[in-house]
Formats: sequence, C-alpha cells, structure tokens
Amino acid sequence: MKGFFIHVMEKVDIKNFSLESLEDFLQGLGKEKYRAKQIFKWLYQRGATSFEDMTNLSKDFRRELALQARITTLEPEKIEISVDGTKKYLFLLEDGSSIESVLIPEEDRATLCVSTQVGCAMGCRFCLTGTFKLERNLSCAEIVNQICAFRGTDRITNIVLMGMGEPLANLDNVISALKIMTCPDGFQISNRRVTVSTSGLVPEIERLGQAVTVNLAVSLNATTDEQRDLLMPINKKYPIAELIVACRNFPLPNRRMITIEYVLVRGVNDSLDDAKRLVKLLRGIPVKVNLIRFNEYDGCEFRTPEQDSIDRFHSYLLEKNLTVITRASRGADISAACGQLRAKLEKGEKN
Ligand code: SAH
Ligand code: SF4
Repeated sequence: MKGFFIHVMEKVDIKNFSLESLEDFLQGLGKEKYRAKQIFKWLYQRGATSFEDMTNLSKDFRRELALQARITTLEPEKIEISVDGTKKYLFLLEDGSSIESVLIPEEDRATLCVSTQVGCAMGCRFCLTGTFKLERNLSCAEIVNQICAFRGTDRITNIVLMGMGEPLANLDNVISALKIMTCPDGFQISNRRVTVSTSGLVPEIERLGQAVTVNLAVSLNATTDEQRDLLMPINKKYPIAELIVACRNFPLPNRRMITIEYVLVRGVNDSLDDAKRLVKLLRGIPVKVNLIRFNEYDGCEFRTPEQDSIDRFHSYLLEKNLTVITRASRGADISAACGQLRAKLEKGEKN
C-alpha cells in the first residue's frame, strides 16, 4: 500500500480555548464573534456534551463545528466519600494516566481542589506527589473538565489549584483554564474565589500576575535557605529572598492578601525560632498564613508536630498580628489530604 494514506484531520478539543481564542477560531471559520459566548454558556453553564444540543446555533453551523472540533468530558472511574463529606474523584485520562480532584464541602462554601499535571517534577521531600516524577502537563480541557465533572451534581463556590502538580510549571494551559473559570460566560466563579498554589517559580509568578487576576498561595514551608533547599529543591533555583520579592511585587486588588502556606514538620521547621524568622520574612507584605499539619504517609521520613508546638507557632504569629489559620486536615480517611493524591493508586490498590 505504498504511497497510500488517509489523512485524518485532528479535531480540536473545544475546551482548550479561552473565550478570546475561541472567538479567533470562529472568526477563522467566518463566524460572528459573539457565537463564542453562546458556545461557552453551553459548555460551562449548561454542561452540553454535543454540538447538536446547542439549539441557538443553526443546524449547518452545529454540523460544521462537529467536523472541526470535539467536546471532551471526564467521567470518574472511582468516587470516594470521606466521613467528613470530602469527596474524591479519580479520573482516567485518554492516554491511560490518572488524576484526582477533591471536593471539600464546608458550611458556607464548597471548594474544589484541582490537579494541573500528572505527577510533579519539583520533588519536594515531604510530598507524596513529588515522589512520582512528572509524567506530563494536563491540557486546559483536562483541567476544566475536572470542574465540569463535579458541576453536574455539586455546587462549587471556590477553586484551588492545589491538587497534583505544580500549576506554574504548566502556565499556558493553567492561564487558559483560569480564564474559563472566572469568565462570566464560563464557570462564572469570582476571581476572589480562585487560588493558584505554587512551590515558588519566581518568573512564572510574575507572568501569572500579568495574565490574570486570581489569588496566589505560596508554599513557603521554611524560613532559611538551608532548610528550604532540603525540603524543596526548587529553592536552589529561586531562594527565599527572591520568592519574597516576587510576593511583594505580585499585583493584588484592593485589600486582598497572598496566602503563605507553611507545612509544619516535627523538628524541622516548627520551632519558635522558625516562627520568629517567618514573621520577619513576611513583614510589610499583605499575607495570611495557612499552617498545615504535615500529613504522614507510608514510608515518609517526617512526622507531624505535637499539638503543643503547633499551638505555640500559631499563637506567636497571632501575637505579631499576622492573620493565621491552622488548616484542619480533611478527607484523611480517603487519602484526600494535601500531598496524598493518587497515593493509593500508585501502590497498586486500584481495585
Ligand atoms: N505544587 C503546588 C500545589 C500542590 S501541593 C504547591 O506546592 O504549592 C499543595 C500543598 O500541599 C502545598 O502547600 C504543599 O506544601 C502541601 N503538601 C504537600 N505534601 C504535604 C504533606 N505530606 N502534608 C501536608 N501538606 C503537604
Ligand atoms: Fe509538587 Fe507541590 Fe508536591 Fe512540591 S508540594 S512536589 S511542588 S505538588
């Protein structure tokens, strides 16, 4: 069959487009720009899964779209619900890899924790995800489809990019996904309720701030470079001083604060001296500090601090007038806690 081949045109995944890029795509097909908003509403507000459903578009247009583009979805392979109501979905992706998303219901809100990569290249020593290496980035469609999957049954008021992966190492796809989350024709989530968490990629923090308005959370986790080099290898590239400057320069809308995440690890970063250094580091930056108890997992080298040292750390920051909360660990019984996503699966407990 030499010389004979069929050219199959790859259809675009329509959920990879931000509103602006969908407008450009449609204009390339000779369509009106405002059609993009109509399509967005179908995809993200009504959960349409086929172009056929989009009844305010002409039949011909729907047919043409179906030839050019496809609408993907993610169906959970497995759902686990914790005694505290935390709900974890495991999704199998087209290439066979898997990711997880976690919904955390609280009295006044429901927060979805979304993954941005399969695995993570950052290799933080206290993080189970970090031991899996990076397999690949998620596409924009794969990021927003995690939200679509929950939206069918759950109300979502807040989104945090704190699942598997380093969001700023997948910045272009993450920016498109953030635009869809906050778009009035998309998921319509206020940008005050969307948070990107990073291990501290300094140039990307700046790029993120230029591209979108969302909340920033920085996983600081240490107060000296010596400590942080050990816990988070990325610190060798972007040491604490540079990271603090990036926080200082991050454009914040009125009265908003950067979240500083600080995982308390017994005997490593939980002393009163650490608390004192932390206060000094953060002086003059509008921050709220999120203290997180280290979550132990099988084979980990670290331990959760005693309650006493957590309280002492917390009180010291309060005394110095920092806004601080110690985060309650949610969903521990289903391995939905920080840094534990996909743990069970990798250990062969798939079924
Ligand atoms: N890669 C991004 C977002 C995902 S990690 C980041 O590092 O910020 C989300 C949060 O979980 C981070 O603040 C990280 O420090 C924390 N974390 C990771 N492993 C943990 C563990 N074993 N116990 C408690 N928190 C952990
Ligand atoms: Fe990656 Fe964040 Fe885990 Fe570090 S803490 S390995 S950056 S997911």
